[in-house]
Amino acid sequence: MSQDKAFMTIPRVDPGYRSKEERVHDYKPVAKELAPEALREQALRCMDCGVPFCHGMGCPLQNVIPEFNHAASIGEWKKALEILLSTSPFPEFTSVICPALCEGSCVNGLNGDSVSIREIEHRIIETGFENGWVRPNVPAQHLEKAVAVIGSGPSGLAAAEMLNRQGIHVTVYEKAQYLGGLLRYGIPDFKLDKKIVERRIALMREEGIQFETEVEVGKDISPEYVLRKNDAIILACGARKPRDLNVPGRDFSGIYFALDFLTQQNRLNGAEVFSPDPLLNANNKRVVVIGGGDTGSDCIGTAIRQGAISVTQIEIMPKPPMARAQTNPWPEWPVLFKETSSHKEGCERRWCVNTLEVIGSNGKVKALRCVEVEWVRGADGRMSPVAKAGSEFILEADLVLLAMGFTGHAIPLVVEALNLSVDGRGTIIRDSSGKTSAQDVYIVGDVASGPSLVVRAIADGIRVANQCVQSLI
Ligand SMILES: Cc1cc2nc3c(=O)[nH]c(=O)nc-3n(C[C@H](O)[C@H](O)[C@H](O)COP(=O)(O)OP(=O)(O)OC[C@H]3O[C@@H](n4cnc5c(N)ncnc54)[C@H](O)[C@@H]3O)c2cc1C
Repeated sequence: MSQDKAFMTIPRVDPGYRSKEERVHDYKPVAKELAPEALREQALRCMDCGVPFCHGMGCPLQNVIPEFNHAASIGEWKKALEILLSTSPFPEFTSVICPALCEGSCVNGLNGDSVSIREIEHRIIETGFENGWVRPNVPAQHLEKAVAVIGSGPSGLAAAEMLNRQGIHVTVYEKAQYLGGLLRYGIPDFKLDKKIVERRIALMREEGIQFETEVEVGKDISPEYVLRKNDAIILACGARKPRDLNVPGRDFSGIYFALDFLTQQNRLNGAEVFSPDPLLNANNKRVVVIGGGDTGSDCIGTAIRQGAISVTQIEIMPKPPMARAQTNPWPEWPVLFKETSSHKEGCERRWCVNTLEVIGSNGKVKALRCVEVEWVRGADGRMSPVAKAGSEFILEADLVLLAMGFTGHAIPLVVEALNLSVDGRGTIIRDSSGKTSAQDVYIVGDVASGPSLVVRAIADGIRVANQCVQSLI
């Protein structure tokens, strides 16, 4: 299949980013692309392993990676596209923003660099679009069955796509003005161009899927009404309840949730007509981002583009290791120190830092009082942060962005109206088919799993939609 031992002679090549000087002045995608010929060569590095961990263990969609790599390596892009689309409905999203779980379990990565699977996937799908090979999947006929999908993020779109392909009439209800969920409103344009989302939605409309925007189920229309009008409902509402900072001084102005900040900038970039109130802007401000994850990183890139004086990111957890820990062996996803394009644009990062208090004046945040912590194992075996004596410090800040994760769903009205069973933490309970305690009501994506990844949301959407179809026909 692959060129014999090409993985030993051809090094991995990454395309990198547009120059920092250029990219911080716009919101256009930062990632560059390799030329098709270079990617064809990169695909030769695939070893076509007897047991392809990338496919079986890494990719939640179970993409048939060695096969599409082979087709790409011999320039059979149309064949590669067929293989890719056989498992993945929206590779144009995952091939841009997926952390590439597949690459974490690539055998080449055991003692070298993994195959550039995500880049190859991107070239395959974009070659497909460029050549007009990606066509709407119109079902041969529609059945007398209808399902409503609530929420148009990746899980809802995947569920809608799979239902429609199997002849179910689908209506997607979305409370926002535009479709795409976090693809549109959370993930910044410099990571994912929204034209990519619009291109897919246009195809889905051609396929016959109905979209109703600016309709919040539970507020604008009742969930019971939607259920009465359909044979089933799939809730794909995300996990949008942000974790708050419960310290003295939290009420000072200038402290906002990361997603509110990112959504506002995405709406401005999308030329949406609205009055930002308040305007969340980092221009000429000293910005502190609390939370060291990807959402925090997106805030950094956005704040830099808005003209922040300085950006500091603090994280309570320790700095991740540079190499796999013994407890994190291959082919597990490697939990490693990561520097995103946003970090590289200029910010200070600190780990093992806890926030004790917000200091303000005239009602506005001026600084954070912080302390360094050590992670200590308690008698119960659990690690917890303990303040280091004498390590307190003040971090000046005019804008504080809270990117400390999400604690669950934000659809209490829907849960109540449909009388859905929840566990002790308020998480909606579902069985292995995705069904909730209510008849014909399913949940998918982040609302079911908690905050996760686009690829997992898509995989869950497919799986639960298929279960839903089976129960209907
Ligand atoms: C800032 C940020 C950056 C991220 N970056 C990445 C990344 O780079 N790569 C990656 O893989 N993952 C990333 N993620 C995670 C990823 O975006 C999510 O896991 C994924 O979007 C979850 O999809 P979903 O469909 O379950 O929910 P969402 O994408 O949250 O979509 C839920 C949709 O439901 C709608 N909705 C909610 N309630 C109602 C209602 N009552 N009526 C009608 N509509 C409703 C919402 O408006 C929304 O459109 C990121 C997350 C965040 C917050």
